[in-house]
Order: sequence, then C-alpha cells, then structure tokens
Amino acid sequence: MTVKFRFAPSPTGFLHVGNARLALINWLYASKEGGGMVLRLDDTDTERSTEEYAEGIQEDLKWLGLEWSDLRKQSDRGEAYTAAFEALKAAGRIYPCYETGEELEYKRKRQLARKLPPVYDRSALKLSDEEKAAFEAEGRKPHWRFLLDQEVVAWDDKVRGRVEVDCASMSDPVLIRSDGRPLYHLPSVVDDIDFQISHVIRGEDHVSNTALHVQLFKALGAGVPEFAHLPLLMGPDGGPLSKREGSQSLRELRESGIDPMSVNSLLARLGTSDNVEVRHTLKEVVEGFDITRFSRAAAKFDPAELMNLNAKLLHDMPWDAARDKLAIDGADEAFWLAIRGNVSTMLEAREWWDVVTGPVSPVVEDQAFLTAALALLPEGPFNDDSWKQWTTAVKDELGVKGKALFLPLRLALTAKPHGPEMNKMLVLIGRDKAMARLTGETA
Ligand code: GLU
Repeated sequence: MTVKFRFAPSPTGFLHVGNARLALINWLYASKEGGGMVLRLDDTDTERSTEEYAEGIQEDLKWLGLEWSDLRKQSDRGEAYTAAFEALKAAGRIYPCYETGEELEYKRKRQLARKLPPVYDRSALKLSDEEKAAFEAEGRKPHWRFLLDQEVVAWDDKVRGRVEVDCASMSDPVLIRSDGRPLYHLPSVVDDIDFQISHVIRGEDHVSNTALHVQLFKALGAGVPEFAHLPLLMGPDGGPLSKREGSQSLRELRESGIDPMSVNSLLARLGTSDNVEVRHTLKEVVEGFDITRFSRAAAKFDPAELMNLNAKLLHDMPWDAARDKLAIDGADEAFWLAIRGNVSTMLEAREWWDVVTGPVSPVVEDQAFLTAALALLPEGPFNDDSWKQWTTAVKDELGVKGKALFLPLRLALTAKPHGPEMNKMLVLIGRDKAMARLTGETA
C-alpha cells in the first residue's frame, strides 16, 4: 500500500515552531514509510489568507529542507466541495439551518444557565417546508449542518492509543456558511479522500474534529485514514507558547542566525523521552524517527535549548558545510575553525568577521602598556606561535602576567573581553591592523 501524508497550514500567518513541528513529523513519517507529503494550503478563509503567507510558508518549509510531493490549494477546489455537499444532501446527511448568530448564542446561554451542555438542539431539522420558505422570503440564507450519527467513534491513534469520542455530545457541525463558503471540515475530508491521504498527523486540538471527520469519510463512501494527534507545544514554563517569548516564527529564527538543522533536531525529539541530539542531516533524523516515541504529555519548547543546540551544531561544523551558510566573501577555513567554538549563531560568526577585518575601535585603558607591548611584537608574518612568543616576551620584559597581560591585549585587538583563542585571532587580524589597534587607532 502506498502511503501519503499531508501538512495543511492555513496561510493566515507565517509558520511558527508548533506548525513546523507538525510539518517535520509528517515529513519524517512519510520519508520513513517511503511515501510523499502533500502541502495543502487551507485558504478557504479568504479574508485572512494571503499570497504573502502562502509563499512565506513554502519558503520556510524549504529552509527546513522539507520538500512536498504536491502543492494543493483549497481555493482551487470549490467544485469538489460542491459535489461532496450535493452527495451528502442527497444522502440526507446535511440540513439547512436559519438561525442567526445571536439566536444561536441565546440558545447556548440558556442551555448553560440550565446546566445543560451547549449542544445544537437540531430544531432546524423539524422545520416544515413552509417555515423554510418563510425564512427564505425574509431574505435569510441557510447555513448547512452535517447530521451526526449519535454513536461512539473510535480509532487507534498512533500517539494517543485507543481513542473513543461520543458524538452524541457534539453539535452537528456547520459545513457550509450562509454565504456559501465551506468551513474547515468538508474541504479537509474531501481533500484527504481525493488526494488519497493514508495518514493524518495533526495537533491534539483536532481530536474531536477527527471523530466527526470519520463520520464524514464514511458518509462520502471513503475509507478512513490512520490518525495521530500530537500534544501541542508549550512554552518553557508549561504555559501556552506565546509570541511574547519571541523567536518562535521560523522567519525570526532564520533571521537570528539559527540553523534549520538545529530546529529539526530539536523538534523531532521534543515530546519523546529520547535525548535531543544534534543531527547534521535530515537523513539522520529520519533514521531515528518513530512516531510511537511521542508521548501524550505536552512538549515544552524552550528557545534557550534551541540556542544551545545551535551552538553545538556550529562547534563541530566543518568548513564545507559552513561556507555557504556563512556567506562571506573572503572568509576562509582558518577563520571558521578559529571562531566556530565561540559562536551560537551564524550572525555571531559574521560579527567575528567584522572584528577580524575591521574597522575596530580598540578598547584602551593603558596606552603606555600597549605601546611597550607593540615594541615586542615578533617579526615577520604571524603564525600560530606568534601570540605565545609575544605574550612570553611581554611577560618577561614588562613583568605582567595572567589577566593583566591578556585582557588589555585582547581588548585592544578585538574590542571585546572574550572570544576565540588569541593565537588564531592574531594571525587572522594580521600585522598591520594589529599594530594600528595597539596604537589606539581604529583599524
Ligand atoms: N488548517 C488546519 C490547521 O492548521 C489543518 C488541520 C489538519 O491538519 O487537518 O489546524
């Protein structure tokens, strides 16, 4: 049997880490099973969906390295949804309702006041043809509800195990709004049928939707796919992931110099009991992937953990892999090897390039000391030993050692109190700039 997955974002915003996690897990599962992943843009909400977001989502997925086998847009599929709607209508599984939003709200409040569950009372089902005609004559347009079978729907969820949902306690869902536009459920199920989706992996906020989707699949005469519902991502404190915590849209992460493989490495393991480890390629992540490792407990996303992982990834990244990501003309392997152990992001790596190439305004506390040290700089082009030779000479001649020796030299040469090993930095900065900076000049 061929397997097919889908990732179905709504282009009403850019992807955040929660969406990216679902995209990744779908992609990993598909890759593991040798199937494809459809990218389905759920753009039925025409007011909030934009082309900019649709393109942004594709850009972000490509950045992560998650390719899709097919791109589909729900806005192109109106005819298929109409056909499904007609089929449901013919089968008596869909009925017109004329209540306004306020009337429904009033009913809900009354039920709640009587301590009853706020489930739609199906009064529209009892309308006579005359009553319907009267509503139409008033200018009311119907919205259409799906008549749920009042049964328990059950499935073996790949993450949650056996799930049973009693549809008797659910309102018949609205499939088509009074302006004729379909809401999420019908397009989602029709697409899953038409695109032959074998596995639906989504957030646990969709568990009750799945129960009614199972009924829709069956009502439309289709087989039911496999399901997995993943717990949502939480913030580091266990509360909901909020924008305020920052660095959660993939765009922001990318702009802050985070590597996509750090994101993939972390998101593939959050919510499992497996350790989070740096993976340099998606292939390695696929190898370690197993949907049953995900637990039902909420997974916490901590931007600090991502940053640590990114630092680890860079610390042993070879020059071949770093070159394009660094994207600096003139930067070479020696530069990369000198600084990679001291950076958490590629942005920081670029800052070190600026330190090497200048101009840098040296931080000078004691010019006399620097002038005396300058006189002791070794002759000739610098090599890895030059720093040692120089600082030994300064120590012997000027009687200064430890921090009092190293910190002023580092501050003069790099304008920073910490950083990569100075024997490497001295070689990279080179004699001319080093001499100028030791004189207190910006160079
Ligand atoms: N657009 C829906 C969402 O983002 C898709 C859910 C699904 O996977 O069916 O929640």
